[in-house]
Amino acid sequence: MLNGGCFCGAIRYETAGTPFQLTNCHCSICRRTTGAAFVTWFSVPRSEFRLVQGTPTRFRSTAKGMRSFCPRCGTQLTFEHDDTADEIDVTTCSLDDPERLPPEDHAHTSSRLRWVKVSDDLPAYREARDERGKTA
Ligand SMILES: [Zn+2]
Ligand SMILES: [Zn+2]
Repeated sequence: MLNGGCFCGAIRYETAGTPFQLTNCHCSICRRTTGAAFVTWFSVPRSEFRLVQGTPTRFRSTAKGMRSFCPRCGTQLTFEHDDTADEIDVTTCSLDDPERLPPEDHAHTSSRLRWVKVSDDLPAYREARDERGKTA
């Protein structure tokens, strides 16, 4: 079981799903909606994700993308896309123990800030996380 929540504690979630798509996203939307240089995510089956306390605020960050965050402290928690209705992305650093799920690659590096120097050996994708756009 993975447990997590927002900074202030108003929102708590849990998931028993097997995490996949562990990635550092460098896209400008993740950046602007969090105020951070990039955001680390993991995915689980949507049916395996459960809010156990509180109600996040949701908003559309794109026509098909929906993000949630704590209305009190602002921690971004999830991302859902209309085209992948069976999965939900969760911010790795909202986990109680983010060390459990280290990222396995970088995505959308075409939008990466030039002052973010990536020195790990993880695969990198210029756009979405798939083999076609792989750069390393
Ligand atoms: Zn909060
Ligand atoms: Zn992103």
